[in-house]
Amino acid sequence: MLDRIREAVSKFTSKKKIDKRDLEELIKEIQRALILGDVNIKIVFEISEEIKKKIFEEKPENISLRDYTIKTIYEVLTKYLGKGDKTLELKKQKILLVGLYGTGKTTTAAKLGNYFKKRGLSVCLVCADVHRAGAYHQLKQLAEKIGVGFYGQENEKKVINILKKALQECKEDVIIVDSAGRDNVNEDLLKEIKEIHENINPDEILLVISADIGSIAKDVVEKFKETLPITGIIITKMDTSAKAGGALVSSYLTNAPILFIGTGEKIEDFEKFDSKRFVSRLLGMGDLETLLEKVKELEEEQKTIKEMIEKGEYNMYVFYEQLKATQKMGSFQKIMEMIPGMNMLGVKKEEIEEQEEKVKKWKYIFDSMTKEERLHPEIINSSRIARIAKGSGTKEEDVREMLKAYKMSEKIFKGMKSGKLLKDPRMKKILKMLPKDKIQGIM
Ligand code: GDP
Ligand code: MG
Repeated sequence: MLDRIREAVSKFTSKKKIDKRDLEELIKEIQRALILGDVNIKIVFEISEEIKKKIFEEKPENISLRDYTIKTIYEVLTKYLGKGDKTLELKKQKILLVGLYGTGKTTTAAKLGNYFKKRGLSVCLVCADVHRAGAYHQLKQLAEKIGVGFYGQENEKKVINILKKALQECKEDVIIVDSAGRDNVNEDLLKEIKEIHENINPDEILLVISADIGSIAKDVVEKFKETLPITGIIITKMDTSAKAGGALVSSYLTNAPILFIGTGEKIEDFEKFDSKRFVSRLLGMGDLETLLEKVKELEEEQKTIKEMIEKGEYNMYVFYEQLKATQKMGSFQKIMEMIPGMNMLGVKKEEIEEQEEKVKKWKYIFDSMTKEERLHPEIINSSRIARIAKGSGTKEEDVREMLKAYKMSEKIFKGMKSGKLLKDPRMKKILKMLPKDKIQGIM
């Protein structure tokens, strides 16, 4: 599953030009990968719908489709494939492990005990599995191996009796209770873990789930969740299955973070789960962090521009935003002919195509300006002009021309604000043509 997503993303990002078809193909491929990775089909659908909605309806204009897509996929996958920003506190506490038979609860109890021991806390492992022959010895041996306390009663068949005694006897900081599992979630199991829960009142209830659980994960997880307030997830056997999707989604279903993953049979094969790292690896992007930061900055910038427009401020950002809006309206030519301000720029009808080319150039120029220059274009002196021209691969006269257009536009803008221009019958005609949301900012 992971490889497949990585490949699809890599194919997508290596494309020079991205269009809607590439995007749809990428989303389809992610869908396929998730389904093959045993993510429940309903959830796969939710995931892809959310990605689509974000990209097609919410993409800010100033962010490239490529960057925004990666960021969106990252965010949505992190949401569904495991929140992992929580770590267990290093304090005195009681932890209950629950899960199906054979998922690795007992092994995990020892791994977790070792984790706390290494961090300076004393630990007691409590065997609350009265069903499986050998459960007692298995946990006892593991406790001895890692050098932590153990409590259990080999011949006691009533779990509650064991736990009552255990709570009296164990003086350690961290008490980890290993409960019994079943082959599948049944009334018997749920009743038992509920009873255990009520008797020990644990600080953490960790659901242990195996990476190879498959698409039944959803049902299993939901039943556990209805019975107990799950506070965290541990996924075991990540080393044995490439289809961890079902298990990963358990975090989303329980609204509990994935805390650790088991990566082998040995005590040391245990890692803290870091969703950011996990999904970055999944997307196969080394520079994901940089990309996310960049996109975040641009998103904030876009928000600020909206606010500036609302407040009636004028600067290079607003100017550039207007240029883009005008271009987008399609009838650029018509509008150009009618806007009195554009005549003031000396743009003749024949020059309109040239003007469109210019706008492209202006984008590069805009990109080469500093934030301060965009906010206060009046500070752009000749040495700055030289720098901007160089940085954008344009000529100094191009930069000057853009600045001139900016100044003209500013004048129009201020004129509109004072209402003078709006009285011009030609202007009234134009405003009628424009979509309401586009002129709101200008007026
Ligand atoms: P329980 O029934 O839930 O208590 O499961 P156990 O702890 O007894 O583990 C069942 C089997 O899974 C054992 O053979 C463990 O060695 C193995 N196991 C547990 N965790 C992992 C893991 O992260 N990776 C691998 N490869 N095997 C594991
Ligand atoms: Mg066990």
